[in-house]
Amino acid sequence: PHVIGIETSCDECAVAIVAGRPGKARILSNVVLSQIDLHQAYGGVVPEIAARAHGETIDRVTREALAGAGVDLGAVTHVAATAGPGLLGGLLVGATFGRALAAAADRPFVPVNHLEAHVLSPRLSDGVAFPYCVALLSGGHAQFVAALEPGVYRRLGGTIDDAAGEAFDKTAKLLGLGYPGGPAVEAAAREGDPKRYAFPTPLARREGCDLSFAGLKTAVRLAAEAAAPLTDRDVADICASFQDAVARLLVLKSARALEAFRAIAPAPTALVAVGGVAANGTLRAALAEVAARDGLPFVAPPLSLCGDNGAMIAYTAIERVAAGLPAGDPRVRSRWPLDATAAPMIGAGK
Ligand code: ATP
Ligand code: MG
Ligand code: FE
Repeated sequence: PHVIGIETSCDECAVAIVAGRPGKARILSNVVLSQIDLHQAYGGVVPEIAARAHGETIDRVTREALAGAGVDLGAVTHVAATAGPGLLGGLLVGATFGRALAAAADRPFVPVNHLEAHVLSPRLSDGVAFPYCVALLSGGHAQFVAALEPGVYRRLGGTIDDAAGEAFDKTAKLLGLGYPGGPAVEAAAREGDPKRYAFPTPLARREGCDLSFAGLKTAVRLAAEAAAPLTDRDVADICASFQDAVARLLVLKSARALEAFRAIAPAPTALVAVGGVAANGTLRAALAEVAARDGLPFVAPPLSLCGDNGAMIAYTAIERVAAGLPAGDPRVRSRWPLDATAAPMIGAGK
């Protein structure tokens, strides 16, 4: 199959063409138009502005993706678009555009869960085999997931308050580093001392692999207030200490996630990190150590596949079609838990 994948759930207008089969797919084009400059002045994504911008650019981005892949619409076998979770206005633009494209080309439309797409991205980039253990660390989520087979995912634990990216974005905002915060915090942290502040690792003593970032955010705010007016040095030290605390928390909890994983499936093939926050070098290194200690490979997709993109959406359709999974409800939705995309677990126990 040659699948066109459309992603408009947040502030990236992205379209890609992916060909091939599960574990062996090729990205023919992957166009990502970021709206960062439109939202920067507001310190975060403004849903109405995002939706309108998607409407203005989706056609051009799609043409670029087709031209970049050197295929015309007639060569496309399936049209996939993110149907959720995400911002409804943007989702509507992408999914409606996708459905129209599918109707025009007389091809099936495949609605895709954005989280499933993040979770499957290491199979696209590295051909990671099922079952594998996922740290899903994105702008709106922070959870550990057992990816058991196509369409079958079990949430092992996750955040009880903020998402991982949210923690980075809020820290950046507090320190005046602008939006989006993740890359800015990572850059500032490079110059800083991670030992200057002993920020807490929330829920460290609680069993299991649930996460929490709210207490960490408060600790960062208190440190920033105490050090005000902040010098560049202070900002760098706070960022480095914050990142270090997130790394310590993820080290602890990902080891527990692997334990929880083995309770439902004996042999994970890898520990993987996906989502925009998985672009963070310090966190990647920390998770790689956990995997190594466990005798497992660590995989994180290249940066171009960590943030939102159309390739992971197209690839998810390739997996679902190959596995014979039903296309499901094409209507968009703002909330769509990963477990809900699961195929009926016939004979899968429990
Ligand atoms: P979701 O996938 O949960 O719906 P989203 O699609 O908005 O949310 P992504 O695009 O996957 O999220 O990731 C964006 C997030 O990743 C932002 O919060 C951003 O700050 C964060 N991020 C990007 N680069 C880095 C980095 N180098 N370090 C830490 N965080 C980062
Ligand atoms: Mg984004
Ligand atoms: Fe995302």
